[in-house]
Amino acid sequence: MVYLKAILSLAGLGAVFGIMLGLAARKFAVESDPRVEKITGVLPGANCGGCGYPGCSGLASAIVTGSAPVDACPVGGQVVADRVSEIMGVQPAPARERQVAKVMCGGGEDKATSRFAYIGIRDCGAAGLVSGGPKACTFGCLGFGTCVKACPFGAMEMGADGLPVIDEAKCTGCGKCIEACPRGIIALVPVSARTQVLCRSHARGAEVRKVCKVGCIGCGICVKTCPNSAIVLEDNLARIIPDKCDNCGKCVEKCPTRCIVMTSQRDLHTVVTGGVGAGKGLSTGTEGPGGCCVAK
Ligand code: SF4
Ligand code: SF4
Repeated sequence: MVYLKAILSLAGLGAVFGIMLGLAARKFAVESDPRVEKITGVLPGANCGGCGYPGCSGLASAIVTGSAPVDACPVGGQVVADRVSEIMGVQPAPARERQVAKVMCGGGEDKATSRFAYIGIRDCGAAGLVSGGPKACTFGCLGFGTCVKACPFGAMEMGADGLPVIDEAKCTGCGKCIEACPRGIIALVPVSARTQVLCRSHARGAEVRKVCKVGCIGCGICVKTCPNSAIVLEDNLARIIPDKCDNCGKCVEKCPTRCIVMTSQRDLHTVVTGGVGAGKGLSTGTEGPGGCCVAK
């Protein structure tokens, strides 16, 4: 009899708590907006974070709450932006030109001077911590392909000259390589902007000449040559204003160091196979943290 009473009171308590939980679930239920699921469905599903949100569903929620614009997905481009606009019931976002990544350095191994042979961990951030990196130019590409490893779309490879090559057909403009590059020398540019200053050095002309054959020496010849006033000189470095540049190529002809180039779809360098760092003439033995560098 005692057991029966205990069982009945436990069952009673269970029933009361069950009812209370059910009522609470109803009262505090959060209605999920069906548009979040629909928008997640039309986003590419790359979950690359190029939009600045944690994955595609994170962006979908942000669009629905109005904290992100309908065209915030760099991977989906205009087609996805139009479909998101439709789901949101707003005017389609005005068409924007596709942006692609560009490595703003032409100082490959054949053109830029090295101060020492680095045989430590093969990562640009790590290499840069060793006396500013092996290259004598402390503004240019370190050449260990950290950007290549970061690209979620397989749009980058290392070239034979130790500089990354970007395949514009595959580049989505997600910006992951830009985040990964410790030198800050990768930029997104409109796909039609073919004329580029492939240098980010702010050093004086004489110093640039000592360390790189294709660095900007800040001579200003390009500024005087450009018929469209599309080039400015800022802190010893030429910068092209994309809106004014019509890719006439006059600056490319006149630049004495050839740091201004007309880039092609497949970029400037010859691609080699064999993975990041192949063809660099550097040690491929076991390398890890605490690796060393050998002075030349
Ligand atoms: S090259 Fe850079 S911007 Fe282009 S897809 Fe790869 S990581 Fe993204
Ligand atoms: S991350 Fe890429 S672009 Fe930047 S220094 Fe390294 S290899 Fe060069």
